[in-house]
Amino acid sequence: MAGLYQEMIIEHARSPRNLRQLEGVHQTVEALNPLCGDHLTLYVQRDGDRIADIAFEGGGCAISTASASLMTSAVKGLASDEAFALFRRVHAMLTTKPEGASPPTGVGKLAALSGIWQYPARVKCATLSWQALHSALNESASQADMSESAPPTGASKNGTE
Ligand code: ZN
Repeated sequence: MAGLYQEMIIEHARSPRNLRQLEGVHQTVEALNPLCGDHLTLYVQRDGDRIADIAFEGGGCAISTASASLMTSAVKGLASDEAFALFRRVHAMLTTKPEGASPPTGVGKLAALSGIWQYPARVKCATLSWQALHSALNESASQADMSESAPPTGASKNGTE
C-alpha cells in the first residue's frame, strides 16, 4: 500500500496534471511555503458556483507538486460546498494521525498523501495548494454574500402627478 502511494506521488510530481496558466480566470491565488521554497499560483475559473477549470503554475518539491496535481484533478467540476468538504477531509488527513488502521475514506486518489502527518516538515508542502484553494473558495463565498445583500431594485414610486 505504502509503495503504491509513493509511486503515485512520484508519478504526479514527474508529470503534474493541470500545470499551466489559465488566462482571464476569475481568481488567481499565490501561495508560498518559505520553509521549503515551494511556491505556486492557483488559477480558478468558475461557472456559477462550480469550479469549471482549475490549474496551477509554480515549483517546489515533489510533495507540493504532486499535491497540487492531485488537488486540481480532484476539485475540477465540484461545487463550492463539495470542494470545501473535500478540503476539510484532506486537511484532517494531512495534519492528524488517523484513528485506527483503516485507510482514509472519501478522498479518492488523495489517499496517496495520507502518510504525510508523520513528517511535520512536509505537511506544509502537502497543504500549500489546499490553502490556496481555500482562499479562493472563501473569496468567492464573500463575493456571493455581498451580491445577495444588495438593495432591492424597483422599489421607488414615481406616480404622484
Ligand atoms: Zn516542499
